[in-house]
Amino acid sequence: LIKLLHFTEDASALEKLNKVKQFYKNNLATFIKKKYSISVDPLSIFDIHVKRIHSYKRQIMNILRLMHVYNEFYENPNFDMLPRTYIFGGKAAPSYYIAKETIRLINTVASVINADKKVNKKMKIIFLENYGISLAEKLFPAANVSEQISTAGKEASGTSNMKFMMNGAITLGTLDGANVEIHDAVGDDNCVIFGLNANEVLSYYQNGRYSAWDEYNNNPAIHRVIDQLLTGPFTSNGDFRSLYNYFFGSNDEYFVFKDFDAYCQAHNRIEKKYRDAAAWHKSSLINIAHSGMFSSDRTIKEYADDI
Ligand SMILES: *Cc1c(COP(=O)(O)O)cnc(C)c1O
Repeated sequence: LIKLLHFTEDASALEKLNKVKQFYKNNLATFIKKKYSISVDPLSIFDIHVKRIHSYKRQIMNILRLMHVYNEFYENPNFDMLPRTYIFGGKAAPSYYIAKETIRLINTVASVINADKKVNKKMKIIFLENYGISLAEKLFPAANVSEQISTAGKEASGTSNMKFMMNGAITLGTLDGANVEIHDAVGDDNCVIFGLNANEVLSYYQNGRYSAWDEYNNNPAIHRVIDQLLTGPFTSNGDFRSLYNYFFGSNDEYFVFKDFDAYCQAHNRIEKKYRDAAAWHKSSLINIAHSGMFSSDRTIKEYADDI
């Protein structure tokens, strides 16, 4: 795979790579239309967040940001964004109430935004049920953006980050688990890293100086979306006091409030990158070229030699 680096300046090779990606995006759009009767723009950015639903994996930070984007779209007449399709998928363990409420929030925000004619040309949100290997096979080749946003220090490795990379998606993530190795391999220009690092997270746990209430009181965007868990456009079928109470009851144990602004800025950076199509395709190829390091042969040999 590393030999693909020979083609990073080859416009026709990059165009062919893009054609392959577009084929699988069309394929996924057709699947979504068939199964959910939702039309998504196959030319939009496919931004995918699939994994078990868990607080540390912070699907909730993703959906809170989409609520924020919706607010911005209504309030700021100059607000501009590239069309994007946000795809979520993942199972919640049977007794994991907060995970199930997170899925309910994603579906609720999706149904409001997808039905809103003012924004739904620019964004669609889809929650795919029953995430498993067969669905994963449709998703990875169709992804442009790989959401890997767990709280730094919490993800042992992650493997979907590798699958996305191997399929030419650009990682938008924290320095956590194998995102660290991806970042080391492809460099700052070919992934988008944001947020607290593992040491900063550990320091907060040790010194107790983090306050969810302070973050909420000092960050108007957070204040607004957290209030919208209780009242506003996303509560017509019941509010999300469950999630509201979870944030304050746990003192935002996974630092969603703290990383929120950095996460929004990371999305601005990824959009800016996508606007330069040639550079994007080049980054995509660089990611594929370096993904061989995640070969299970290499991994197992290293375990055998060193451990
Ligand atoms: C890869 C994969 C996972 C693991 O995903 P992570 O993002 O690494 O947590 C879970 N479920 C399925 C179906 C997968 O393909």
